Amino acid sequence: MAAVAEPRSGDGRRLVLLGPPGSGKGTQAELLARWAGIPAISTGRMLRQAVRSGDSLGERVEDVMASGDLVDDATMAEVVRGRLGATDAARGFVLDGYPRTLGQARDLERILDDLPAHLDAVIAIEVPEEELVRRALARQRADDTTDVIRERLRVYHRETEPLIDHYRGTELLSEVDGDQTIDEVFDTIVAAIDGEES
Ligand code: ADP
Repeated sequence: MAAVAEPRSGDGRRLVLLGPPGSGKGTQAELLARWAGIPAISTGRMLRQAVRSGDSLGERVEDVMASGDLVDDATMAEVVRGRLGATDAARGFVLDGYPRTLGQARDLERILDDLPAHLDAVIAIEVPEEELVRRALARQRADDTTDVIRERLRVYHRETEPLIDHYRGTELLSEVDGDQTIDEVFDTIVAAIDGEES
């Protein structure tokens, strides 16, 4: 486990992790959540659970997800609004996989305004393309076929990468080198978050 200081008690942290598929967002979200005592909220995991349970959300998103494309912004806003309103997210959260489009970034601002709450930091994890492909092929998820991996990377560059510029404008953004060990990436993220507070 990464050797880092404990977070100061009572810290509310509202964090967004950005990064391409295979950047290690999910792993870092879990580590940050445990470190700060807040929930990691993975929209991909929530949607996969919905598909597995066969509920109406799952039926609505199943085909889109299988193609590697994005679920529509309105559906995602509903999902995220419900989740961020839950009591365990009141002190903070790590969003993993949302927002993924400029429209979703605007939706998130509205959702947080309504709570009311605000983001504390946005972390963009950067990994070279050839390393992403290598990691994706080594991963064993049912929806990870080569075509779907390529499509997800295309969708990331087209829809999600522009968010990095969007958040650069808000001064919330820290860009982190994701081509390091898990512990090193974690330490870099924690330093970036704590640096922003001082
Ligand atoms: P990965 O970690 O491989 O990028 P995720 O587990 O985050 O993938 O998401 C898997 C799939 O779920 C996406 O390819 C997409 O179809 C859907 N999905 C997850 N989050 C969103 C979102 N914010 N907007 C639209 N679709 C989403």
